[in-house]
Order: sequence, then structure tokens, then C-alpha cells
Amino acid sequence: IKFSDLGLNEKVLKAIDDMGFEEPSKIQEEVIPVVLKGFDVIGQAQTGTGKTLAFGAPIISKLDNSRQGKIDTIILTPTRELAIQVNDELNRIAKYTKIKLLPVYGGQPIERQINALKRGIDIVVGTPGRVLDLIRRNVIDLADIKFLILDEADEMLDMGFIDDIEEIIRNCNKDRQTMLFSATMPDEIRKLSKKYMAEDTKYIS
Ligand code: AMP
Repeated sequence: IKFSDLGLNEKVLKAIDDMGFEEPSKIQEEVIPVVLKGFDVIGQAQTGTGKTLAFGAPIISKLDNSRQGKIDTIILTPTRELAIQVNDELNRIAKYTKIKLLPVYGGQPIERQINALKRGIDIVVGTPGRVLDLIRRNVIDLADIKFLILDEADEMLDMGFIDDIEEIIRNCNKDRQTMLFSATMPDEIRKLSKKYMAEDTKYIS
């Protein structure tokens, strides 16, 4: 199977080709069509499996022609390093589009992130604490987002972010599409997905 068989748009396919990836990984082959169809997804996947492109490529493909001029997508990661890494990879995938991304995390002056957000950002990749801070300052508004992604959800729970994550999710509209990726599936993750994800969520491992 080829990337061009999965339903992604031309700009995204061209960017993936530039990245030098020849064929989709297993998780990409399974997740990409399901996200394009609009389903919520739980992906049980370790790092190194290509999960970032698995959720990033279909999101960017769908957003390319439907940007709202305000935040469309929020991606939560456990660490600043992962936020930067995910942001970089999605920037490469979005290369031929007008989609703008911003990583936000603690330990960096918040003013700079606020100014960047005011210039118009489509996809925010951030750690839960800083994202919540920006929501409380009314700089991030998630009332009209299309996609919410919880990346390395088990790590985020281990780091004690559960309350922050739930508060962030409560700030999101209900008709969004939600994706959760996690290397392990402890009870707390199952509970979280039952509470906040669609009944027809697809489970992919
Ligand atoms: P991830 O699991 O998203 O952290 O990705 C792990 C690494 O694999 C990253 O360096 C990606 O750039 C790379 N990668 C992602 N998809 C593919 C693919 N289909 N073929 C080769 N490398 C890939």
C-alpha cells in the first residue's frame, strides 16, 4: 500500500514525498483513512511507529481547505521536547499549505507565545499546564476546534496532568474529532476515553 492510496490531498502527499518516506507504517495505514472519515481514534502505539504522521497527515489534509482563521486543532503532549518534535514534524507535513503551527510550553516567556497566538495560529501543540494557563488568560479559545489530540496520554497521566487535561477538554466543543495515542491502556485511559470520546471510536493497535 502507498501513501497515495489513503485519501490524503496532493499537498500533503508531496510533503511526505519530500520527507523521504516511501511507504506508510502499519499505524499510518490504519489510522489515516479512519481519521479522514471523521471517526474518533484510540491508537495504541509506542514512539517510533510513525504515530505523529498518522494523526498529522489527515488533520492537515482536512484543514488545508477549511481553516477558520482561529485555532482549529489542539495537540497535548507530556513534555516540551515532544511538543517541539511534534510541531516540527507537522510543519514539514504542512509545508505546501498555509497552515500555521505554534508549540507552547512552560519555561518560556508566556508573552512571546501570546503575541504569536494573536498573529493567527491554526494548530497549537502544547503541554497541558501552559495550554490551560493560556485558556484562562483568554488567549486560547477551544470553543470551535475541529481536532483534539492527546499524544502519549499514559505519560501525561503519569505526570499528574489528569485534572488539567479534563479542564482543557471541558473547554472544547462537543462536535470535535478526538484522537488519543498511548503506549499502554491503563484503566484511567479507558475511563478518559469513555467519558470524552465518541461511542463509535475506532481502536487501533
Ligand atoms: P513517531 O513515532 O511519530 O515519533 O515517528 C518516528 C520516526 O519515524 C520519526 O523520525 C518520523 O519522521 C519517522 N517516520 C514516520 N513515518 C515514517 C514512514 N512512513 N517511513 C519512514 N519513516 C517514518
